[in-house]
Amino acid sequence: MLRVEHLNKVYGEGDGAVEAIGDLSFEIDPGELVCVVGPSGCGKTTLLKCMSGLLPPSGGEVRLGDVRVSGPPEQMALVFQEYSRSLFPWMTVRQNVAFPLRRRKLPKEQARRTVDDAIDSVALTGFGDHYPWQLSGGMQQRVAIARALAYKPEILLMDEPFASVDAQTRADLEDLVLDLRRRYDVTIVFVTHDIDEAVYLS
Ligand code: ADP
Ligand code: MG
Repeated sequence: MLRVEHLNKVYGEGDGAVEAIGDLSFEIDPGELVCVVGPSGCGKTTLLKCMSGLLPPSGGEVRLGDVRVSGPPEQMALVFQEYSRSLFPWMTVRQNVAFPLRRRKLPKEQARRTVDDAIDSVALTGFGDHYPWQLSGGMQQRVAIARALAYKPEILLMDEPFASVDAQTRADLEDLVLDLRRRYDVTIVFVTHDIDEAVYLS
C-alpha cells in the first residue's frame, strides 16, 4: 500500500547541513498497524512529513500504491504531536472536526452525521460546542483524532500523539487507537519514542 524507497532527507546546505534520514526503505500492507520507535531527534517527524507529502525528500521516494507522493495525498490524514497547535482555537470542536471535510464536498446532512459519529467515536459526545481551550490535553488530542477519522482516511499517520498526556490517559487513548483501527479499518503508522507504547500497540 505504501512504499518508502531509499528515502533520504537533508536539511540545509554546506557546513550547516543536517541529515535527518540517511537511507530508509520499508513497506506497509493494507490494514497494518506499524509503529516507528526511536529517540528524540532521530528523524521520526521528518519521516512522517516526507510520507505525507508535506516535505519533499532529498533522495529516494514514497509511493502510495502506484503513485509517487508529491503533495498531501487525498487518502491520508496526519495527527500532529502538538494538539494545542494543530486545533484551531477560534473554532468549536464540531467546526474543527468538520474542517477537512470541506474538501470532500459532502451534502450538509451527511457531513453533520459524519462529524457527530467521529465525535462520538472518541467519546466526546456533548462537547461539540466547546472550544479546544475548554478541554483537557487528552480531550484535545481526541478532537484531533476525530478530525482525522471524520475525513475517513485509508492511512492514518500519528506523530507521538500521546507524548504530552498523563500515563493513565495515555493508556486509554492507546486502547482507543486499537479500537478505532478495527472499527474504521484504517492502516496506521504510529510514531513514538516510547518503547512500551510501540510494543503494546503493534
Ligand atoms: P524526531 O521527530 O525524531 O524528534 P525530527 O524529524 O524532528 O526528529 O528531526 C530530526 C533531525 O532533523 C534533528 O536533528 C532536527 O534538529 C533536524 N531538523 C528537523 N527539522 C528541521 C528543519 N526544519 N531545519 C533544520 N533541521 C531540522
Ligand atoms: Mg518529532
